[in-house]
Amino acid sequence: MKNLIRIMLEGAYSNIKRIIFASDRVTDMEIRSRVLEGRVVPTEKVAEISCIGCAGCKNVCPTGAVEMVKLEEPVELMEGLIKKEIPVLNSETCVNCYYCHDFCPLYALFGEAGTIHPNNVGVVELDIGELLEEPVKISDDKIAFISQFLADSTILKKREEETD
Ligand code: SF4
Ligand code: SF4
Repeated sequence: MKNLIRIMLEGAYSNIKRIIFASDRVTDMEIRSRVLEGRVVPTEKVAEISCIGCAGCKNVCPTGAVEMVKLEEPVELMEGLIKKEIPVLNSETCVNCYYCHDFCPLYALFGEAGTIHPNNVGVVELDIGELLEEPVKISDDKIAFISQFLADSTILKKREEETD
């Protein structure tokens, strides 16, 4: 009984400390200060130059947080593959599941960093022309699964032609 009372009192004391002194919100307080002082710099979510515009990220996103927007000037990446759109990630509806990154074919098929990331895509500079010429080294089952999400499967068709 004494132990139970002691646990209850300790719990009540911890909660009072949390409420009055924000004792377990050290990180939150730092983030709040950074926001209030304008020290938070928005990060890039899409590496626009290296992205091939396949819309895999949009198609796989469970919350509709990725929208494809038209490029003013389409870009020919390789014969038969023209990039016409690039994704824009809306952080307000993103739930950080990472599907967009993990299904991005540059990551899923070629093992390079994906060109979309819910937090910070970082610097992704790929020689797309050269990369897309490389053979895909994953199982046919995995390719079939990923290909459901690609709006443009030119890179997969090309691979099929090469292995015929
Ligand atoms: S990480 Fe965000 S944007 Fe990416 S698929 Fe998940 S919810 Fe969509
Ligand atoms: S899945 Fe990757 S390559 Fe395809 S549009 Fe999205 S970011 Fe670009």
